[in-house]
Amino acid sequence: MFIFRINMTDLTVTKESVPQEYAAFGGRALTSTIVEKEVPATCNPLGPNNKLVIAPGLLSGTSAPSSGRLSVGSKSPLTGGIKESNAGGTASQKLAKLGIKALIIEGQPLEDKSYIIKVDKEGAIITEDTALVGLGNYEIMKSLSKDFGNHVGVLSIGPAGEAKMATANISVKDPDGNIRSAGRGGLGAVMGSKKVKAILIDDTDAPGVAIANPEAFKEAARILAKGLTEHPVTGQGLPTYGTNVLVNIINEAGALPTRNFRSGRFNKANQISGEAMRDLIIDRKGKPTHGCHNGCVIRCSQVYNDRDGNYLTSGFEYETIWGFGANCCIDKLDDIAKIDWLCDDIGIDTIEIAVTSAIAMEAGVLEFGDGEKLIEIIRDDIGKVTPLGRILGNGADFTGKAFGITRVPTVKGQGMPAYDPRAVKGVGLTYATSTQGADHTAGYSVTANILKVGGYVSPLGKEGNVELSRNLQIATAAVDSTGLCLFIAFCILDNQDAFQAVIDLLNAQYGLSLTADDVTALGKTVLKTERAFNKEAGFTNKHDRLPEFFLEEECPPHNVTWDFTDEEVDEVFNFENEDVKVETPC
Ligand code: SF4
Repeated sequence: MFIFRINMTDLTVTKESVPQEYAAFGGRALTSTIVEKEVPATCNPLGPNNKLVIAPGLLSGTSAPSSGRLSVGSKSPLTGGIKESNAGGTASQKLAKLGIKALIIEGQPLEDKSYIIKVDKEGAIITEDTALVGLGNYEIMKSLSKDFGNHVGVLSIGPAGEAKMATANISVKDPDGNIRSAGRGGLGAVMGSKKVKAILIDDTDAPGVAIANPEAFKEAARILAKGLTEHPVTGQGLPTYGTNVLVNIINEAGALPTRNFRSGRFNKANQISGEAMRDLIIDRKGKPTHGCHNGCVIRCSQVYNDRDGNYLTSGFEYETIWGFGANCCIDKLDDIAKIDWLCDDIGIDTIEIAVTSAIAMEAGVLEFGDGEKLIEIIRDDIGKVTPLGRILGNGADFTGKAFGITRVPTVKGQGMPAYDPRAVKGVGLTYATSTQGADHTAGYSVTANILKVGGYVSPLGKEGNVELSRNLQIATAAVDSTGLCLFIAFCILDNQDAFQAVIDLLNAQYGLSLTADDVTALGKTVLKTERAFNKEAGFTNKHDRLPEFFLEEECPPHNVTWDFTDEEVDEVFNFENEDVKVETPC
């Protein structure tokens, strides 16, 4: 395997062998290690010294189920800390099949020109582009598929990335030519700052991924696929209702943040639920279940049509539906679907824009519940980069400051996702301490707090939640490094055979004899690397805190506040000074 180093200052590409210090890693472990070693932690995220690192996971490009996730890493313009943003789509598998361990995009063009990068079995080239400038992501996907063929993988940015907004994401083409996103942390702005509008990946005649022990690999893949198919969450809940299965569950638990985190219950939750969404999708001849990449056996994605049966959006996630639904009090799924499409097209993170929209509603820019007005603002202000659009497009913290709003649910500058931390305390600890800013996926304690997967820890008390968040953050950092979708965690937390199968897959591919302890060591190493970068960037324990209104305001219906002491929160990262060693797979 090798690395392409793409220098946007002198417009050159270098093919490098993988240095020993990067060899053990893939996915998030690799992007975070490269960022920590090569990016000055105090640099301006939009300046020439930041780098954008794109890496498939350790198992990507193989037949391991649900293993096509992509990691994109950088210093985040939103948080000012390290960022790994994880996406589906076809890019990860194509990069891995080409033998590419990582693309490292560095420098910045001296002239104000836009470029595309094309990667195939012959190498990587940078070409000046004028045709795509200003286009939205849907148009870009269509245009590049027409010019280069449907089989080509694409990463692109929309107008928000070009305008270097801190909510800008990177779009990744899915198997149908639609869009998945490396959503969080503003990495689209980093790509925009390097004047890269799109990256094409053509894996025609690619050598593919070498497997040291094919028979053992096949058997482990079979066991993991069986476990995923048989588990009630990954085999039934997610394929049937998508991630939006959670609206009714989290609402029932009293933890669905509503009206900018004023309550844990939304009285119109039924109207935007996974159950309501599935009925509409079936009525309108959409696709109720769909994979964001080939080889996903969970297939939590879907295609959502409008009332005339025409495509409206896809990959319509719980976080998006919660954010514009309960949190902005919009009760029409069609309005939220239009907003989802617009966010994908403009290239902005739906979670950050949803949290930001509720702040704008607090400020009186528009009324809570006014879906039509929000569609207009996103399309005509953020999409057309007006001064209001620039404020909103820079995220919740920026918008709060611009309008003098103090109830801003962010940690380290990143908007809080769809679980009230007062009512799901394990997630609250993850929001507070994650290296990524408020991020549910960094340690998804909803598993044991609400879903009773991998045991049960009360969501409202303190007991067991520090350990829960810590263990899940470690496990997640490891899973994010494999290229496996994080949703496999629902199954492997309950099913020992499926858990062992993940380790067996790594061992069979790389000819290793890793144990569960090695996987834990990998997760800890990733987190320590990320913490080290953040420390250099100026973060201390004092940044591992929730906004003060969570300590003071009770969240109905449980009427709970955030009650962890600073010392208790700091216990999450109690392993920071441990010595851990990671085995090298290649
Ligand atoms: S489970 Fe969903 S998010 Fe995960 S890989 Fe499959 S379709 Fe993508």
